[in-house]
Amino acid sequence: MTGHKLEPGILKGVNTPTIEKLIKAGIPTLEALAVTPARHIVKLTGMGIETAQKAIDKARTILKWDGFMPYDEYQKTRVPRNRCSTGSSELDRILGGGIETGSISELAGAFGSGKTQICFTLAVVCHLPLEEGGLDGNVAVIDTEETFKDKRIFEIAKARGLDPAVVAGSLFIAPAYTSDHLLYQINRLHQLIQDHNIKLVIVDSLISHFRSEYIGRGMLADKQGQLGTALSTLLRIAQANNVAVVITNQCITTPDASYSNPHKPTGGNIMGHAGTVRVWLYKARKNERLANILDSSYLRDEKIRFMITEAGVVDMPGKEDDGG
Ligand code: ADP
Ligand code: MG
Repeated sequence: MTGHKLEPGILKGVNTPTIEKLIKAGIPTLEALAVTPARHIVKLTGMGIETAQKAIDKARTILKWDGFMPYDEYQKTRVPRNRCSTGSSELDRILGGGIETGSISELAGAFGSGKTQICFTLAVVCHLPLEEGGLDGNVAVIDTEETFKDKRIFEIAKARGLDPAVVAGSLFIAPAYTSDHLLYQINRLHQLIQDHNIKLVIVDSLISHFRSEYIGRGMLADKQGQLGTALSTLLRIAQANNVAVVITNQCITTPDASYSNPHKPTGGNIMGHAGTVRVWLYKARKNERLANILDSSYLRDEKIRFMITEAGVVDMPGKEDDGG
C-alpha cells in the first residue's frame, strides 16, 4: 500500500456503510478519494452528492491538500517521480529520462510504428530496480486489441538476459472488449495498484473502441465526453498513486514520416490536454523508427531514431546522425 488506507473511522462524521461503499467502488485510499470528483463517486456508488463531497473534503484535510503552502513546504509534500526506461537511451533522453510516474505518456503513430513494441519493452523492464531503469514494481495492462502476446514478451525478456517467469509474474492483464468495459477496468485500477504494487499502467489502445463505437459527426460530442472521462480518470490514477500511465493512440492517416506535417491524432484536443507527454512515432526503413516529442509543457521538441529488435526497443547501433 503506497497511499493512506481508507477504512472505517478514519474520516470523522462519515459512517461505516459509506466507507464500505467507497471501498467496494474501487476507492481504497484517501488519495484515490481526494482526487475523484463527487459526481463520479455518485455514479459509482449511488450515494448522495453531499455525502460524497463530505468524504472527499475530509480526505483532503487529512492529506493537507486543502490549502496553500509556501513553495519549499509544498515541494516536501510531493512524492518524488521516477522514470522507467523504454529500452532506448536516446528515447529516454528526449523524454527527460524515460516514462515518468505521476503522469500520462501518449504514444501516437500509424499502424506498425512501434507503439505496442514500446509497451512490451516497458512491461519487461518495469520490475527491475530503479538503478537498472525499472520502477521496482509490477505492470497492469488493459489490452483492447489482444496484441499483448506472452511469446513476444518472453522473447524480449530472454534477449535482455531476464527471467521470463519473473517478468510474467510482474504482469497483470485485463481485456477490454468495449469502451464501457475499458472504463470499468480503468475504475478497478486504484485497488489493483494498492494490492499488487503496480508502478506502470498500459492502455493499448485507449482509442480503438471509442473510434469504432461512436461513428459519425452526431456522436462526436459523446465520444469526446467518454474519452475525456477515461483520460481524466487515468491522470488522477497516475497522480494519486505515483504510477506511470502509458496510452497508445493510433493515427488514421497514412504515414509519410514527415516532421513538418505531423498527422492529427484521434481524439483531438482532449488527448492533447490530458497527455502530459505525447511521443510521435514514425516508420523509417526496415526496423528503424523515428520518435518525436511534440507539444510538451517542459520537454524540447526533439526527434531521434531507435530500433525494434528481438530485444524490443533498443538504440541505433553506433552513433548515427538522424536526419529525420
Ligand atoms: P503498433 O504501432 O501498430 O502498435 P507495433 O509496435 O506492434 O506497431 O510494431 C510492429 C512492428 O514491430 C513490426 O512491423 C516489426 O517491424 C516490429 N517487430 C515486431 N516483432 C518483432 C521482432 N520479434 N523482432 C523485430 N522486430 C519486430
Ligand atoms: Mg499496437
